[in-house]
Amino acid sequence: MTEITFASFGFAGSILGALKAAGFEKPTPIQEGALPAGLAGKDVLGIAQTGTGKTAAFALPILQAMAANKLHSRRFATRALILAPTRELAVQIEQEFKKFGAGLGLNTVLVVGGVGRMGQVNRMSRGADIVVGTPGRICDLMSTRNLLIDQCQFFVLDEADRMLDLGFMPDIRKVVAALPTRRQSALFSATMPAEISGLAEGLLRDPVRVAIQAISSTPSRIEQTVHFVDAGAKRALLSSLLHDPSFTRAIVFTRTKRGADRVALQLNAEKISAAAMHGNLGQNARQRALEAFKSGDVRVLVATDLAARGIDVTGVSHVVNYELPNEPESYVHRIGRTARNGAEGIAVAFCDATELPFLNAIEKLTGVKMEVASGTRPAHAQPARKPQRHPDLVVRKPKPRRPQYGEQRKTRAA
Ligand code: ADP
Ligand code: MG
Repeated sequence: MTEITFASFGFAGSILGALKAAGFEKPTPIQEGALPAGLAGKDVLGIAQTGTGKTAAFALPILQAMAANKLHSRRFATRALILAPTRELAVQIEQEFKKFGAGLGLNTVLVVGGVGRMGQVNRMSRGADIVVGTPGRICDLMSTRNLLIDQCQFFVLDEADRMLDLGFMPDIRKVVAALPTRRQSALFSATMPAEISGLAEGLLRDPVRVAIQAISSTPSRIEQTVHFVDAGAKRALLSSLLHDPSFTRAIVFTRTKRGADRVALQLNAEKISAAAMHGNLGQNARQRALEAFKSGDVRVLVATDLAARGIDVTGVSHVVNYELPNEPESYVHRIGRTARNGAEGIAVAFCDATELPFLNAIEKLTGVKMEVASGTRPAHAQPARKPQRHPDLVVRKPKPRRPQYGEQRKTRAA
């Protein structure tokens, strides 16, 4: 069997050089599947979990086309538009375009919310080759005609299922409606709920379908354990785990933004360097937290699902599910933050009595029974707790007393 190399796809020399410099030796399976179609100008429907190399799978054909055809966009127009669900993902995608397109002299513009729009408008005024952004700000700039996509030749929707979860479908429909019919499109998603296949049908023309691994599969390189623990004992358990130096770079997931802030504060109080990252923080604060974590300045990133999906940091030794997610797919995404690029990783789950149904749903989806690290697995899920009031505390409305015979009715006017 001959091994497929990037060179065999006929990429421009500067792209090949950049791939080599980035340490990309051979294409990943999704790249092997999607690159020939993309390079042939075909639409692509890619189904693959995170960490499989989707970014290069859609970025390289666009760059190759632009290397061969150096058109200039008119003011505020772009030749390629990439939509991502979160700002961090958009930043990562933009960086990847810049990395592999470094020698091509292209103008790449990032259009995301949470930062001023003026700078983005200014950059768009020169005309762009590639715009990477999040749906809200993209629509915002389109509405003021500071972003024109009527001549856009390449359109990519990344992490489409996440877009759906975040309520971006109306924005995406607006964008798609403004695209020209003659274009090349790609849609990537880890899962294919009905809404996404519907969207794909309207968006893609005769697409080449590339499916790599169902979302239900967790990489076998990840060791998965669970601690059965009372909700009130999670804090102490977390700090005792994090005092173990083998937790060189850990992401701790909480369900809520406030929970993330609380846990990060508590860890810092215990001299464990931690930063919180979630959707309530401004874009700069989020990026700062991520950079500090990447550079190793902080050892622990405490994050919500929104902030951490798709984030690509190498060398994450542990993922701690401080609270289990109620959507089992989120668990798969969370633990996919470790064991990237074929490395090994450890996923630790904390499960209190109320979270047992979540644990069961996760184990059913992944088909992996987590090893019990501490506590004992309860035989039955505790029924979802309905707040039960003590009978003494139930307030009954007093019945209106009928006026007794002869008693004067009180009037309001009195
Ligand atoms: P996804 O979008 O599927 O989550 P990414 O595109 O973010 O995946 O890629 C995951 C990681 O793998 C990134 O660090 C990326 O640089 C790296 N990577 C992608 N393709 C290759 C390759 N062919 N060889 C080596 N590393 C790769
Ligand atoms: Mg990605």
